[in-house]
Order: sequence, then C-alpha cells, then structure tokens
Amino acid sequence: LASWKAKLLSYGGRLILINSVLSNMVLYMLSFFHLSKGVLQRLDYFRSSFFWQSGNETKKYRLARSSVLCRPKSQGGLGIQDLEIKNIALLSKWVYKLLTENGVWQEIIRNKYVGSNAISQIHWKPGDSHFWSGVMKAKEFFFQFGTFSVRDGSQVRFWEDTWLGNNSLMVQYPSLYRIVRHKFVTIKQVFGQENPDISFHRDLLGTRLAAWNELLTRLEDIQLSYEPDTFRWNLHQNGKFSVKSMYDAMVHCDVPVDNRKLWKLKIPLRVKIFLWFLNKGVILTRDNLARRNWHGSKTCVFCQHDETIKHLFFECKFARTVWAMVQVASNLYPPCSVRNMFGNWLRGTDKQFSAHILVGAAALCWAMWLIRNDVVFNNKCVKSPMQKPEDKDLFMMASTRLERTAREVFYPHGWRCDLRIGSTAS
Ligand SMILES: [Zn+2]
Repeated sequence: LASWKAKLLSYGGRLILINSVLSNMVLYMLSFFHLSKGVLQRLDYFRSSFFWQSGNETKKYRLARSSVLCRPKSQGGLGIQDLEIKNIALLSKWVYKLLTENGVWQEIIRNKYVGSNAISQIHWKPGDSHFWSGVMKAKEFFFQFGTFSVRDGSQVRFWEDTWLGNNSLMVQYPSLYRIVRHKFVTIKQVFGQENPDISFHRDLLGTRLAAWNELLTRLEDIQLSYEPDTFRWNLHQNGKFSVKSMYDAMVHCDVPVDNRKLWKLKIPLRVKIFLWFLNKGVILTRDNLARRNWHGSKTCVFCQHDETIKHLFFECKFARTVWAMVQVASNLYPPCSVRNMFGNWLRGTDKQFSAHILVGAAALCWAMWLIRNDVVFNNKCVKSPMQKPEDKDLFMMASTRLERTAREVFYPHGWRCDLRIGSTAS
C-alpha cells in the first residue's frame, strides 16, 4: 500500500480512500472479532501516515492528533472512522440480535454460552471463542444505550440495567449497591420469592435505610408476567438498534466545535480540508513551521510582518486588498479571523445567502494560499497591479467595470456607494 500511487492523491482523495477502502477492508473483520489495542494502533498508524504522508517515504508533519481526525465533522474532526469504536458498535449488533431475535444461530449461541442466564449476566470465560469474547466486550458498552420493559424479568439485571426510572438502580442507589450481597442478579431472581431477595453485607442505617425504604415503595407496584422482556434501543426513535447510532453516540468529544457549516459548503473537498486545517490552525504558515523546529525566515512573503494564519489571510496588506475588493462589490465587512468567518461573521444574514458568501470567502482564502505558495515555492513575483504604472490603467478600467456591475447587481439590495474604497469612480 505504501508504494501505491497514493502520493498522487490530494488530502481530499486520501480522506475518501481512507474511509472507503482502508476502513472497509477491516470492517468485515471488525464485525466478527474484537481487535486488540495493539492491532488497532497499528492500523491507525498506517491510516494516519497514509493521510499525512500519502505513503511517501519522506516524513511529513502530522498536523493534528489522530483522535482529532477521527472526531465526526460536526464535532470539529475530519470524520475518519474510529476503528476501535466501530469494532464495538459492529459487535454490539450480535448482542442485539441475541436479545431480540429468535433463530438457529441464536439457539446455538444460547445453548453454548448463555444457558438459563440473562445475556447481560454472562461474562467472558477462559476457553470462550474469539468471536464470543468480542461480543462480551461489546456488551459492556451496549446496555447503557437501551432500556428494558420488564415482563418476566429474566433478561434484566436488577441493579445494573435500566428499567426503573431513567437510570440503573446501581446509579440511583450507589450506597446500597456498594454493600449488596448479590450483584448481577436478574429481576426474576430477585422477585422469585415472596419478599424481594436482596441482602446486604452490612446493617442498613441512616441514609441507607431511607434509600432502601424508598426503593421498596417503588418496587411494590412491580408485577411480573410470563412474556419475555423487551429491549428498546434508546438512540433511535423506532427503538431498533443500528451500528451507526451506537458509533455516533460513542464518538464522544470534549471540545464541541461546530464545523457543520464548513462541511455543508458546496466546494471541492480539497478546499474544505484546507479550510478545516485553517480552522484548526495547522496550516503550515511560517510561525507553525517554526514551532516544528523549522529554521527559516518567519517573515510574510508580502510584507515585513511575521507570517501567521491570521496575518496571512486577514491582516496582511495583500489580504486586505483582496477583502477590500469584496467589500466594494458586496458591501460586506471582511471577517477578522477564521473563527470569526465561520462564527459570527455572517450572523443576521439570510441563511441561504450566507452559505453563498461563505463559498466565496472559502474560495478567496484558498486562492490566497495558492498565491502565497506560488511565491514561496515557485519564486513567482506577485505585486499589486497598482505598483506597475503600465498596468495601472488596465486595473482602473477593470475596477470601474467591476463597480458598475456591482452597482447594477447590488444596488437594488441596498448597496451603499459611500462604502467603497479608493477613488476609482467613473
Ligand atoms: Zn504580510
């Protein structure tokens, strides 16, 4: 794979390839076996080096941690699949099938591993098959996303599953759970006798006694029937399990950066990824390079300031000229930073309209980056046309034309002439 033509692909191509091929290749395996941390780390290493280095031998800078890349796009990541979580979600499908469906496969598994116990009660034993140990691993995560409706109580664990209230009793009465003699018992086992079969290691006193009395009152109304318990998957409105819903719930993130706007834009994927880099602050501008021990000039290629993302795209005289033209044409104040651009910049603007403006802004940033790279890598010389006398007339003519067009188009929408810059009026 490393020697494949990966280096010819852009970041966008590689992102698609990672999600469609690299991940799906192992998806089949992931839906049957629980992969060890070591294997998963190895896979992630390959995927990550493929993304950043495109399989080249040469080392490139990894600009963001792989846990960040794996976050969904709505949470500020690139949406590369997290294999460990995917593994758990895929294996959970078997738990769900075992719990809710009847068939030959379920029969065999129940006879072999479950017996008269509830599935939630079963634990991994030495000698279990690789497949089953994976299912058991997934089970640990599975039950927190569902609720049982108690019928005969045979599938529901009294303390650990959610069936009375919005949480498990273990969570609702932690002081009782800590000292209860029999954990992991089913409701059926608890209610098998006349009185609830619950005993504790210690005497109940004070708050524990109060909690116990409260729980007993709540249990008074519980009536078991002879039908099997039903399980409802809480992450889906129809109550049915889906791998995607579990995966999405588990790709949890602590920094909720909303990038949905960015990913919805109708622009080429490579520009989106570029903007994502921009937003993350990991574009290789010279200040970022310097932070990675790069020894070169930190100065902006267009002026004497240090080159940072904010400077290059918003504060440099080069960027300001570009944004000023936008302002002339559209009466739109330029954004002051990437965060601002995707944040409050267009607040109050009509939603459909603001999406179009963002596309334009994205194109501008992308163009500025390309021009900057032309200067840096191809030694191209970019000067403002105003500096070359022979181009000046042409530029004036062009901008007059631009302004006239802008006036025709934007005047009906409230464009104000007094906001334009320079003195190029016809
Ligand atoms: Zn500059």
